[in-house]
Amino acid sequence: MAQGPGLSTEGRAEEPFWFTESLPPYWDQNLRTQVRVHRVLHEERSPYQHIQVFELGSFGPVLLLDGIVQTAAADEFVYHEMVALLPCLQVGQPREVLIIGGGDGGALRQVLRFRSLRRAVMVDLDERVIEVSRRFLPSVSQGAFDDPRAEIIIGDGQEWVRRFRRRFDVAIIDLTDPTSDGPSNPLYSAEFFRDVRRALRARGIISVQSGSLTYQADWVRKLRATLASAFPYVRLHTAMVPSYQAGLYAFLLGSGRPLQQLTRAAFQRRLDGVTGEPQYLSYDIYRASMALPPYLARVLSG
Ligand code: SAM
Repeated sequence: MAQGPGLSTEGRAEEPFWFTESLPPYWDQNLRTQVRVHRVLHEERSPYQHIQVFELGSFGPVLLLDGIVQTAAADEFVYHEMVALLPCLQVGQPREVLIIGGGDGGALRQVLRFRSLRRAVMVDLDERVIEVSRRFLPSVSQGAFDDPRAEIIIGDGQEWVRRFRRRFDVAIIDLTDPTSDGPSNPLYSAEFFRDVRRALRARGIISVQSGSLTYQADWVRKLRATLASAFPYVRLHTAMVPSYQAGLYAFLLGSGRPLQQLTRAAFQRRLDGVTGEPQYLSYDIYRASMALPPYLARVLSG
């Protein structure tokens, strides 16, 4: 039984059923993805978003916001190691990290793995996303919300980022995709990126989840240009996140200082300062994630 994009599951047919994921307007409109929902674990409408948690068989419990897959228990580590572990390894020994969004707790868990870390400040708009993720996707945060080094702020990332000055080594922008009227839209702007730069220390790094390079290369190109208007050094990394069904997913890094390519030895030294072994990010993946096929390199340089 197909479900329309973003439609509630209330009044749905018997489980299991097919759910059609609504894709952001700038995605290829000739594309739809359907997932088989074995069980609806939770559903509610918060003041900001439609929150759903589905049991999706091979992907396990999955968080959706406004009908779009955000985090799947089975492969969240790919996304969170790229958006959070990578920039922290790139900067070296992060002491203070800012996370804007990240309500599922996956990015927070990654930064708390650094023994050098003193403080992780996470600003998410929607307390309900945090509570629902704690309860239905505990394997994503793994207690990170209760770590004494974590400071959880409920509020708009755009307002909060303006309160910080030269404080953070890394800023992770782990927001919902910009949609026609979503709460994250204003945070994909030059103004917001300039505010983030002011919140970072001189050699600080910003990391931005940047959507699908395969299905929205033009959006990634524009976002990179917007980021480059605030940060002189910008670099693109990519990875495949199976549950996103988005082909190559894009992650942009930005800094006021050159983004050096770490040597294997330097990468390993920095990894020695991290608790546990990464499941996705290795030195070879780090290097490979910077490589682009010529056709996409051409689109991005367009
Ligand atoms: N990995 C996901 C992705 O790539 O689409 C993002 C996951 S995370 C759950 C997205 C978070 O962004 C949500 O918890 C949402 O509440 C938060 N968010 C959206 N707009 C925001 C804003 N203006 N300020 C702070 N958080 C915001």
